[in-house]
Amino acid sequence: MEIDYEKIGLKVGLEIHQQLDTSTKLFCNCRPELFKEEPEMTFERRLRPTQSELGQVDPAAYFEFQKGVRILYEANKATSCLVEMDEEPPHQLNLEAVETTLTAALMMKAKPVDEIHVMRKTVIDGSNTTGFQRTCVVALGGEVNVGEKTVPIQHISLEEDAARRTGEAEDNVIRYRIDRLGVPLIEVATAPVIKSPREAQKVALAIGRILRATGKAKRGLGTIRQDVNISIPHGALVEIKGVQELELLPLVVKYEVQRQLKLLEISQELRARGAKEEDVKKEFFNVTDAFDETKCNVLRKALDENEQILAVKLPKFKGFLKQELMPGFRLGTELSDRARFWGKVGGIFHTDELPAYGLTEEEMKKLRETVEAEDQDAVVFVADNPENVKDALKAVVERAQEAIKGVPEEARAPKPDGTTRYMRPRPGAARMYPETDIPPIQITEDDVGKIFSQLPELPKQKLKRLMDEYELNHKLARQVLDSKYNKLFETIVKESKISPTTVAAFLTETLKALKRDGVQTDKVSESQFRDVFSRISVGELTKEALPDMVVWLSRHDKKSVQEAIENLGLKTISRNELEAFIEKVIKDNRSLTKERGENSFGVLMGIVMKELRGKVEATLAIKVLKEKLKQKI
Ligand SMILES: [Zn+2]
Repeated sequence: MEIDYEKIGLKVGLEIHQQLDTSTKLFCNCRPELFKEEPEMTFERRLRPTQSELGQVDPAAYFEFQKGVRILYEANKATSCLVEMDEEPPHQLNLEAVETTLTAALMMKAKPVDEIHVMRKTVIDGSNTTGFQRTCVVALGGEVNVGEKTVPIQHISLEEDAARRTGEAEDNVIRYRIDRLGVPLIEVATAPVIKSPREAQKVALAIGRILRATGKAKRGLGTIRQDVNISIPHGALVEIKGVQELELLPLVVKYEVQRQLKLLEISQELRARGAKEEDVKKEFFNVTDAFDETKCNVLRKALDENEQILAVKLPKFKGFLKQELMPGFRLGTELSDRARFWGKVGGIFHTDELPAYGLTEEEMKKLRETVEAEDQDAVVFVADNPENVKDALKAVVERAQEAIKGVPEEARAPKPDGTTRYMRPRPGAARMYPETDIPPIQITEDDVGKIFSQLPELPKQKLKRLMDEYELNHKLARQVLDSKYNKLFETIVKESKISPTTVAAFLTETLKALKRDGVQTDKVSESQFRDVFSRISVGELTKEALPDMVVWLSRHDKKSVQEAIENLGLKTISRNELEAFIEKVIKDNRSLTKERGENSFGVLMGIVMKELRGKVEATLAIKVLKEKLKQKI
């Protein structure tokens, strides 16, 4: 389905969150890193929102806490201390992070605030041990340029990252790891002026490049996360939280527009058929008897465990639940997601997908009779304990009423294929109140002047310079710009006599290919790369040896470049040795050269390079072989 986004009036705003690679966390001296091992300690909490906060908190989070959910926090000593555990007040705001945020802000022409005030933003899903997230606005306004377009920035803030969820809720316990809690995050919020999926990606890319140009942005999956606000006229504002891959962004926007357009169409058709919100009632029927002989495994199991099967009637909904909103995602899926979320049930059954799952026509007939369903009605039923079933069906009814109305406002989570799933209702504007443990920080004109005088090159300027100064083509220059080795590239080129194009292609394309083959190229240090290139520069190593060197070094921690050369037998050979070797190859293949003359070059070159790969420059070997071959013939 091709959509004219301009015509339908799509509006997208982005909130980009970038983790900073500072030496410590935002409010303590712990390292801002994640750990993979088993936790060294765990502790449990139950957060209780106070009465005054109830009006402001996320209703979904509050609902969970009403249900008595407890939280198990996992920690180790290197990445967390008493501050993350909320046993000690936060320390002074990390000035390295403030400086980096100011740098990014000035690069985006934003206006720094006079005084930074750390605020608390209520969060009760357990992702913060305190029950709030600390955040501070560092600059207001600003803009980024994307092609011809100027996208206004609303604000640039600095905040603490939240703990990361390490497991789904089991037995009413949610697991969080607090290593990520307190990692500095820059938040950049754009105005909702983005008009197409492609443009959303371009804007995110442009902002990401500026953040990386500060030299303090963390890299890798999960270090940059995008919240996307999407709306179309007559639809609703939907927030898609935490898109991690830039490539996914256009698809996420496209599918959300598709979903909203389809929901609007369904709403119109439902109303045309006479569906009314007030006719969809929270009236639940016990239909357990309809299934007492059932062959459906799920229902059989529920009945054996003495659980109940309750049903609800959705008047005039027949046929609509199987309509597709996004690939592999129907209106029925939407109802089912709500039921799972609010009712903690495994899923729902609905008559648009039945008979199936071992259910029979006969059972469907009994079901319809019990709930007194008319021909055009759909019926949804759920088997679980009575409390969960009721919560699930209530959620189904509410979602069905919204389907008659149009598109509900909500927060959704992205899936790896770009489709999204219900996450929770859209929280109202979070209430902020001052963090009294941290004094405000003044930002003087001197501070701003100092940072301004050392502002990094803008990505656009750097791209141009890479092309002008090093004669890189546009594609390679772009790859260098986006590479974490962009500084290393310039260092190596200045230190060695190797062509910039060779260095650039190696640091981007070759390393990427090796990585794809499973080589852990990150284990090779920048100083090792410099060492390898300086040896190539003086003829001690050949360019052809580069991939082998990287593979070896990545597999041998703490070994030197010298040891790699020795172990790989990569010492280059002299011109005399090369000539002698080539003469021997020609001699050994006398019959071939006699028969084919100069046409035997290809075969002979293959033999030479098989033996000498990495020990001699290919261009030199070609030259010598051609000369010798001519002499012999
Ligand atoms: Zn700490």
